[in-house]
Amino acid sequence: MTDRATSTNGVAGFVSLVGAGPGDPDLITVKGLRRLQGAEVIVYDRLANEDLLRHAPPTAELIFAGKGPGAHALSQDEINAILVEKGAAGKRVVRLKGGDPFVFGRGGEEAEALAAAWIPFEVVPGITSAIAAPAYAGIPVTHRDFTPAFTVVTGHEDPTKGESTVPWQALATGPDTVVFLMGVGRLEAIGARLIEAGRPATTPVAVVRRGTWPDQQLVLGTLATIAEDADLAGLTAPAVTVVGRVAALAPTLAWFRGALSGKSILVTRARDQAGALSAQLRSFGARVIEFPSIRIEPADDYTALDAALLDLARFDWICFTSVNTVAALDARLRAIGGSWAALGQVRVAAIGPATARALRAHGVETAYMPAKFLADEIAAGLPEAEGARILLARADIADHRLVAGLERRGSRVEHYVAYRTVPSDADAPALRRELVEGAVDIVTFTSASTVRNLCQALGDDAGALLADSVLACIGPVTAGTARECGLTPTVVAEEHTIPGLVKAIREYLAPENPPVQEFTS
Ligand code: SAH
Repeated sequence: MTDRATSTNGVAGFVSLVGAGPGDPDLITVKGLRRLQGAEVIVYDRLANEDLLRHAPPTAELIFAGKGPGAHALSQDEINAILVEKGAAGKRVVRLKGGDPFVFGRGGEEAEALAAAWIPFEVVPGITSAIAAPAYAGIPVTHRDFTPAFTVVTGHEDPTKGESTVPWQALATGPDTVVFLMGVGRLEAIGARLIEAGRPATTPVAVVRRGTWPDQQLVLGTLATIAEDADLAGLTAPAVTVVGRVAALAPTLAWFRGALSGKSILVTRARDQAGALSAQLRSFGARVIEFPSIRIEPADDYTALDAALLDLARFDWICFTSVNTVAALDARLRAIGGSWAALGQVRVAAIGPATARALRAHGVETAYMPAKFLADEIAAGLPEAEGARILLARADIADHRLVAGLERRGSRVEHYVAYRTVPSDADAPALRRELVEGAVDIVTFTSASTVRNLCQALGDDAGALLADSVLACIGPVTAGTARECGLTPTVVAEEHTIPGLVKAIREYLAPENPPVQEFTS
């Protein structure tokens, strides 16, 4: 290695640790932008917006350092070594880091490595997500009425550390605003520790995911509820969590147009199932109207299903085609004194990830899930179906294509009604009024039965009432039913899950919803 970053060709190298800002590509400093424009090598992170790379000269060498699905992450030592090596080779290096380089993200260690190797470097601060994500959610981290200070703390402790280095007691009694980075997977523990240390359980909490990005999400709750609230809305990293009274300002001050803001969206699922879809839509800024067009009721007669559940060993497979069937079987097992453990060697197929998750909550691992979350795909893809004895607990109205498909493959299928879907008693006149006034932008359908029952609830002019709304269906079967009912589905999710449906709606709206708001004169 050369001394003082003067390379063998005599050119002095220089490393800039540049803060890329939280996501919105306009939130980089002028100095950071200039460094990008002059860079020969850019080592960038997953959290830095890749859009920024277009400012780099076309000749610049781009090195991706961050973790991501399908991409190998460089270790911190490898990153440090690259910075030193490129600097020593005389390059103008930009180390582009999400947010601010010295707020978590190990920028300090990179500077230390450069200092130790005598490579000249600078730090170009960036806008940290700790402040910007709350700001975009309408949360000022300080406020004269609430708190003169705020704390930024990691929510992700190294699990190998025996003792907590986070001073929970001080956080509970210190400045009212506490901002956690990296803590979205540990909200339950964060809430519990703070309550235990003396913060009221009713303290407002906001979680902001992908703050400043077009797909920013916001979930509000309290210390007692936030883990469940965030889970319901499907929030994952990267997110910041703001604890304290300022979090309650978000509904009033929310100014950033989320992907679904300004949209009124109808959720037609059964009441006890609407939660996740409604929560996800709201987290993107939508106004949600819940009209549970169906209700889940027990079947009339469980004699045959109960008998099958008491003799599970005779089956090779049990197929679950919805979360409802999992709940219905759980109720039956309880009623007859059985347990999920009795599944023993019987293999379990689940139609999609939500159903698999519901099974896992009962300690049951899914052995088969089709790549596309459709009943027909189970029929086509179930392994070793020939000669297999299959138990299928289903809805009363489920069509028989799954049974027929499995039988074509040589399976012996016993199918029993596990629950009934019945039209709900939701307030149809109120919904009619909203539809007549054109107040419903998007109508969501998550199953064929939601389509049929909404049409039934609205009566003969259902088609006319729904004509001005965008109809969004979870998959092709639901869309087919909509067409049979004389409706025209515009959005059909490619992934037949609740998050897949929400994504399809967002993508449909995206062109109308420019994330960047410009000043116009
Ligand atoms: N140096 C960065 C933080 C790096 S640690 C900064 O100053 O922002 C990574 C954590 O930052 C994530 O787990 C998340 O908590 C937070 N984060 C980064 N970008 C974010 C964003 N756009 N919205 C919400 N949180 C974000």
